[in-house]
Amino acid sequence: MIEVTLLGTGSPIPDARRAGPSTLVRAGDQTFLIDCGRGVLQRAAAIGVGANQLSALLLTHLHSDHIADLGDVLITRWVSNFSPDMPPLPIIGPPGTAEVVENTLKAFRFDIGYRIAHHADLTAPPLVEVEEVTDGVVWGRDEVSIRVGPTDHRPVEPTIGFRIEHHGASVVLAGDTVPCAGLDQLAAGAGALVHTVIRQDLVDALPVQRIRDICDYHSTVEQAAETATRAGVGILILTHYVPTLQPGQEDQWRALAASHFDRQIELGDDLHRVEVHPGVCAKPAW
Ligand SMILES: [Zn+2]
Ligand SMILES: [Zn+2]
Repeated sequence: MIEVTLLGTGSPIPDARRAGPSTLVRAGDQTFLIDCGRGVLQRAAAIGVGANQLSALLLTHLHSDHIADLGDVLITRWVSNFSPDMPPLPIIGPPGTAEVVENTLKAFRFDIGYRIAHHADLTAPPLVEVEEVTDGVVWGRDEVSIRVGPTDHRPVEPTIGFRIEHHGASVVLAGDTVPCAGLDQLAAGAGALVHTVIRQDLVDALPVQRIRDICDYHSTVEQAAETATRAGVGILILTHYVPTLQPGQEDQWRALAASHFDRQIELGDDLHRVEVHPGVCAKPAW
């Protein structure tokens, strides 16, 4: 079984009820954080997960809402680790990730210096191991494997999705993308697809062009559902609601997805949790 927890279901606009985009996936005894939006560690703490328990950080792309708390993840993992041989944090993301991580550590250079000067047992800055990828298998440890595929969020590029597999269960994390062949292939036959979505009917009605622009490079609820149907996934998990999903609107969003996907649909608030068991997929439509 793979367990998916929506840590943050918000978007770039601060929301009192929703943290920024991030999802936690637990497979076997490994824990993966996918994207690290605003407030991610507070949400993780709510389910008893600390930064020092992460097996790896996976980044779908380098938009600010998806990496807003990268510094918090790096520094908090470092200061809350009391074992002398903590391994470097694996960080897997698209090209550009190494520069973002390096510059984030640079921004915290003073903090890192203060702590090394103050604590005898802190002798080195936070250790990271960054891998930049656009395609292929990136992880294989203790029967958990992770594959990456290209997505389409242009002009943000390159962007990637992740497919995590464990004992026949699988979950795909699409990130922000329009429907594309790369995601179709990555998601084919997966147990669950976690997809970020926008409501085009609501966004189109807003009087600000900069906000309406977001329709160019995101999937609508209906498009995410069509992708799920084409790929034959078992469960569609919607997150990153734009505009924010208001209390009481859940059924509206669910109905839009259900008009294009007739299997299990999950959506909700931060900390919504979904179990993905082996064998819940259908057959891809192609
Ligand atoms: Zn984005
Ligand atoms: Zn986003």
